[in-house]
Amino acid sequence: MKTVRQGKIGYLQPAWAGDGIAAGFTTRNGGTSRPPFNSLNLGFHTGDQQAVVEANRGTLARAFDLPPHLLLTVQQVHGSEILVIDQPNPDFSHYQRVECDAIILNQPGVMAGILVADCYPVVLYDPDGPAAGVVHVGWRGAAAGLIGRTVQAMREMFGSRPERLCAAIGPGVGGHGYEVDRPVREAFRAGAGGWEQIARETSLGHWLLDLRLGCQLQLEAAGVSTARIDTVTECTCCHRETFYSYRRDQGRTGRQMGFVLLPGK
Ligand SMILES: [Zn+2]
Repeated sequence: MKTVRQGKIGYLQPAWAGDGIAAGFTTRNGGTSRPPFNSLNLGFHTGDQQAVVEANRGTLARAFDLPPHLLLTVQQVHGSEILVIDQPNPDFSHYQRVECDAIILNQPGVMAGILVADCYPVVLYDPDGPAAGVVHVGWRGAAAGLIGRTVQAMREMFGSRPERLCAAIGPGVGGHGYEVDRPVREAFRAGAGGWEQIARETSLGHWLLDLRLGCQLQLEAAGVSTARIDTVTECTCCHRETFYSYRRDQGRTGRQMGFVLLPGK
């Protein structure tokens, strides 16, 4: 993962990206939002001014020579629905009202993004399709195995072979800063595995959950090669100057984005 400048912003770029495929993770720097949303807040419904968020999203889109309405984000609800974009569309802005937590696409010239502040954004790229995906991974998404479901959806919809996928795990809250309790434990018991490997009990009924490791294990379980997974290792809660963190800032904060953009025809 390296820091790359693009237009007016800098972002974190996975090792496999850059040559034909744009993918990465924004930081909080480069926008015009005022504290506590400073500065590149890309999320609506954060308490920030709508017009400023729109301007920030425009800054991101224009950095990649896109008009702002070709930046596609959704209404993330900690569910396990996957949006499939397999048709061209002159305007993707109305998808902001669609409730889902992963997007897969084979369309060039549209930037798909997942907004986060502690949850993990995971980006997938199939160079053969080409096709791509972005996934929102909080504890509910991890317990539901949403990464594996998204890899499977790319296989079914676009013929993507998991062993050919490139993946990137973006910035999220580190295990040391992510305490969870029994409802989370129960959700993992009912859903996808991995709990034993990623949870460490700190006191009765309380665990520290390493979602970054959880993302990696789910990618590997889905058939993605370890060598093709690049990971942001800095924790959101420990890096105030770089990342938004919902837990650190008690909810009064902005959103960074994990994004992917297939090359135009
Ligand atoms: Zn931390």
